[in-house]
Amino acid sequence: MITDLHADKNILEIDGARLWDSLEASGEIGKLRDTGLRRLPLSDADKEMRDLFCTWARDAGCTVTVDQVGNIFARRPGTEDSLPAIATGSHLDTQMCGGKYDGVLGVMSGLEVIRTLNDRGIQTKRAMEVVVWTNEEGARYTPPMQGSLAFIGDLSLDEVLRSEDADGLAFGEELQRIGYDGARALGESKFAQYYELHIEQGPALEAMGIDIGIVVSGFKSHGVKIEVTGRTAHVGPTPMDQRQNALVGAAHLVTAVDGIGWQHHPQGGKATTSQISCFPNLPGIISESANLTVDFRHPEPEVADQMLSEVKAAMLEAADKANVSMAIVDSWSFGDNPFAGECIQHLSDTADAMDVSYMEIRSQAGHDAYAIGKIAPMGMIFTPCTGGISHNVEESIELDRTVPGVNLLLNAMVTAANR
Ligand SMILES: [Zn+2]
Repeated sequence: MITDLHADKNILEIDGARLWDSLEASGEIGKLRDTGLRRLPLSDADKEMRDLFCTWARDAGCTVTVDQVGNIFARRPGTEDSLPAIATGSHLDTQMCGGKYDGVLGVMSGLEVIRTLNDRGIQTKRAMEVVVWTNEEGARYTPPMQGSLAFIGDLSLDEVLRSEDADGLAFGEELQRIGYDGARALGESKFAQYYELHIEQGPALEAMGIDIGIVVSGFKSHGVKIEVTGRTAHVGPTPMDQRQNALVGAAHLVTAVDGIGWQHHPQGGKATTSQISCFPNLPGIISESANLTVDFRHPEPEVADQMLSEVKAAMLEAADKANVSMAIVDSWSFGDNPFAGECIQHLSDTADAMDVSYMEIRSQAGHDAYAIGKIAPMGMIFTPCTGGISHNVEESIELDRTVPGVNLLLNAMVTAANR
């Protein structure tokens, strides 16, 4: 039993070629523009990918269970199986126009950990679980991280199942259609620790020439959906001073939000309007309504909260300018320091024992791990991605620069599972 890497010098290594093969096979499912993926949650491509993962996990000797929102749990039993497991996981869904590694790498790395232990006939005291969380990206159903948030009880089963995509298709019906409406109750798995490996989605590791980032904190993030309400009218005869053009109100707000981002840019703050739709969105008619999704993030939680107030003030000003009304109809936030000291320490100690260099890094994106960090000690490992490019079909990684992080995941999980 491996309990001390220093004493045993028994450092395990994954099979990089096999990990790469798994990523390549995954990259064929839901292919977009040659190098990218569009694998929206609960789509046919998502089903195909889930089926393949479940087959691989069963072939690796895991028991596979699915919960009521479609989260998949692949479990490798431990010798003291009643103890809480050491878990890892990520997501297999992608953005509308996404890459092959965001999320996928974390899941395939977890599978590679299990396969490596099987190769060597290593038994661990605690069970190990690899989890696939449903709908991390929020590209089809909102909010993002829907599966992990439901797992920890931050979203109710009912609200998840009732949520609808842009075509009015309900989550619950689509989940049933692809056969992943599992029986397992939400939150049933108990984790002693949870680790997630993810591509950095930023340029720091590549720029520093370091292959492993141990995440020590996150950026506080807020997301809001804003509805702008105006009144339809003819674009010809309606005088300028009698218009209530929802699109114009939205436009004023979009530039104001960008301005808020620039104001906080020196400290690393960001503000984005990522989505807009308007109705009726036709020639010859002034818009009656517009819907915006606005996202803002800051390394200091209090400033992120302050940015929310600034957005609210900008809404009033923009509404006034365009003679329309605006309301926040949905909101979410994440990133309240979800990282556990014990996991950061364990990853750092393991990296030291393996004699690999790493840097401490902050996470700027949202991850399922943030949700799990509310119910279990959680840590994250970042690996480099070329040019920091993500949420883009050009997203790419180099295997040589990825393997060290996966080896860290492997060794950290094994020693944790033997405690
Ligand atoms: Zn991701």
